[in-house]
Amino acid sequence: MNLANRLLDTAQAHGDRAAVRLDDTVLTYDRLLAVAAGVARWLTANGLEPGDRVGLILPNVPAYPVHLFGSLLAGGVVVPMNPLLKSGEIEHYLADSGARFLFASPEAADEARAGAAATGATVIVVDPRGTDAATADVPEIVDRADDDTAVILYTSGTTGRPKGAELTHANIDGNAAVTRETLVEIGPGDVVMGCLPLFHVFGLTCGLIASVQAGACLTLIARFEGAKALEVIERDRVTVFEGVPTMYSAMLHAAGDADLTTVRCCICGGAPLPVELLRAFEETFGCVILEGYGLSESSPVACFNHPHLERKPGSIGVPVRDVSLRVIDDGGRGVPTGEVGEIVIKGPNVMKGYWGLPEVTADTIVDGWLRTGDLAVCDEDGYFTIVDRKKDMIIRGGYNVYPREIEEVIYEHPAVAEAAVVGVAHPELGEEVVAAIALKPGAMATADEIREFVKARVAAYKYPRQVWVTAELPKGPTGKLLRREVRTARPAEPSPS
Ligand code: AMP
Repeated sequence: MNLANRLLDTAQAHGDRAAVRLDDTVLTYDRLLAVAAGVARWLTANGLEPGDRVGLILPNVPAYPVHLFGSLLAGGVVVPMNPLLKSGEIEHYLADSGARFLFASPEAADEARAGAAATGATVIVVDPRGTDAATADVPEIVDRADDDTAVILYTSGTTGRPKGAELTHANIDGNAAVTRETLVEIGPGDVVMGCLPLFHVFGLTCGLIASVQAGACLTLIARFEGAKALEVIERDRVTVFEGVPTMYSAMLHAAGDADLTTVRCCICGGAPLPVELLRAFEETFGCVILEGYGLSESSPVACFNHPHLERKPGSIGVPVRDVSLRVIDDGGRGVPTGEVGEIVIKGPNVMKGYWGLPEVTADTIVDGWLRTGDLAVCDEDGYFTIVDRKKDMIIRGGYNVYPREIEEVIYEHPAVAEAAVVGVAHPELGEEVVAAIALKPGAMATADEIREFVKARVAAYKYPRQVWVTAELPKGPTGKLLRREVRTARPAEPSPS
């Protein structure tokens, strides 16, 4: 199913209903389609060919769905970007994907222009309210096959620099349908909280696309804060809440006397949900949280604590409809029940591959099974529990930080001999980014200097809040860095955070 057709169908069935809302700005389905059609016409008039890539660097504002659907209607492939990215990061995404156009919010415009300068992409700064460019009639939807790529989502996968996970129309549409039909049961009367970033797969599939399929209203929060989320839930009578653990924690701490009785379902994913947080949230607000699991490469939902089955707090539940999970050892053999191994996933939600990287794709999807890098156990009832990550990724407050990317920036500093970036436990954020470095003989640099050096070059959520300067980083016999030991290599007096 072409994602653009979904909008067309819903506009026909529920044209007058609110599709997206941001405070006082509301777009009905009719209006969303009309404005998206204007974007599609503009792209086509400016030479967009089916399959061409279109970047979006926008926060959660009505212009997001407008330009996403506008690009899809014109046959484009969308490349979502975090609006906090700096120019060097934007340049990598644009150059790697070969994007020809980049729709940017006014706040992201300067970095976007600087990033696009070297690639030749055209930057278009858009009105966040998504109200420009409307046309009365709907253009022909450019035909795209189910297995044509709809979105390229940049993620590091198990290792390395961000790579583009190619998700097809069928990947996203199918996973949104699973969410809507079997996990959350979203219908036209629902109001879904859109606080998950729409540039991330969780917000895109389970928030935006599932809402559009259902004819529900997605109420947006451009910048998440616990108190703001509670206010919006009461104001808009939100019925479905979707978030990452840090969002639940922030709402709990901002609790006050908020009334969440309209919320009939909360879903959580993206990072481990501490059982204590789940219990405290449910006691305070009287809502039930169902935890699930997935990743960009699986569109994302693969496993879930289904509403009509027994819930096991701390576990990620059982595989979703049409999806299989296995736990395997390093040799690819299934491990016995209760033993730790790597999760692999098979199903219609598994990505087509990494954009332009057939060899990495072949290493990641083996005989149709997607390697996740996540370590888990499966119990005798078929419930999976994540125990660790094989990959190095850090999840800071719901945002992924890839150590190697930050290490590469640190290595650009002339005084640095060795660098290792790790996640350490943090009570609110889940994990905090820490860099351990060793200086070159005779070189001088303070921890603060290194921190500021990185801060100037990467998005604000990524830079290490603490830098530990040590004589030498712990390494194994083959010289491979021992990340676990780095985490405990904290010097007696760490730099202030
Ligand atoms: P992303 O590609 O940004 O969606 O990140 C996916 C990664 O987030 C997974 O590979 C896991 O490491 C982690 N993750 C997602 N959901 C959960 C969960 N419920 N519990 C633990 N880790 C999770």
